Amino acid sequence: MKKRILVTGGAGFLGSHLCKRLLDEGNEVICVDNFFTGDKKNIEALISNPYFEVIRHDVTFPLYVEVDEIYNLACPASPPHYQFDPVQTTKTSVVGAINMLGLAKRCKAKILQASTSEVYGDPEVHPQPESYKGSVSTTGIRACYDEGKRCAETLFFDYYRQHGVDIKVMRIFNTYGPNMNPYDGRVVSNFIVQALKGEDITMYGDGSQTRSFCYVDDLIEGMIRLMNSRDGFTGPVNIGNPGEFTMIELAEKIIELTGSKSKITFQPLPQDDPLQRQPDITLAKKELGWEPRIKLEEGLKHAIAYFKSVI
Ligand code: NAD
Ligand code: UDP
Repeated sequence: MKKRILVTGGAGFLGSHLCKRLLDEGNEVICVDNFFTGDKKNIEALISNPYFEVIRHDVTFPLYVEVDEIYNLACPASPPHYQFDPVQTTKTSVVGAINMLGLAKRCKAKILQASTSEVYGDPEVHPQPESYKGSVSTTGIRACYDEGKRCAETLFFDYYRQHGVDIKVMRIFNTYGPNMNPYDGRVVSNFIVQALKGEDITMYGDGSQTRSFCYVDDLIEGMIRLMNSRDGFTGPVNIGNPGEFTMIELAEKIIELTGSKSKITFQPLPQDDPLQRQPDITLAKKELGWEPRIKLEEGLKHAIAYFKSVI
């Protein structure tokens, strides 16, 4: 049956892939975005579909539409972008969650929250299971994002307990692929663009910090499986690729795959930058039958081809 689905942040990196996938599956999609970090080019190919609708709107203001499902992705995700206007970042996560949960309550719609591995902060438990409560600074430069997302999770669970809203909470780990903004400052886009242009690769800190990178197609599959998971399964659930790499390993792999002559240069590590990160995906495997399929090298090849075409 055709569902009417709202995707907030639908013109962003993940949102644009999600809109396409939902349309391909025969649904009607309403994409809401204020275009802070999103790009109309990401959704250009979808515009001709009569079941696709775009609304320029900021989720910190109420929205009145009638929908069956809501994927709440609106929020800048790259540190330089979310730190550009930190007050607006917290408002987007917190007030945006209240508005979208209110909409879900009125429409009796199911609602999925794009939460983040950042709720674990700079983790003392490794890898991170969902039961780990996190180690997050409330006052640092990442707090606008981390605490905003943590409060959004609280709101989701309170709307669930207090109002019976059907919620699904997904903790997304670092994801990459086509439609990422080449200049958004995240590590995969920075390193690939620098390597392709023959510029210095900007390594923050000594490069021994780790991240685990998930290719976007795997991530979107996990997101859709979570939305369609059994009644009463709320999460939170980690979705990410457990393959863990140091930033030095990532830079070397990108230099090799692009055949670049770029050299690595070292810059100070930003405040509160997590030293390690790897998802424990036991719960996603059990509840969603999900695990990632695309290895870093294969995913990077797709991402490199994309960045080559846009820079
Ligand atoms: P993105 O910056 O590409 O997309 C975010 C989208 O939200 C953009 O289109 C932006 O214009 C829009 N937006 C921002 N503030 C808004 C507002 N107030 N009202 C309406 N629209 C607004 O980032 P992304 O990587 O696609 O991330 C999407 C979601 O997934 C975010 O909520 C992010 O926190 C979460 N997430 C992403 C990652 C990742 O690695 N990509 C990891 C963890 C969590
Ligand atoms: N990073 C880096 N050089 C860059 C951009 C990022 O060394 O040009 C590092 C950053 O300090 C962090 C890691 O790469 O340790 C991942 O950064 P990103 O901003 O992509 O995501 P997050 O820190 O939110 O996981």
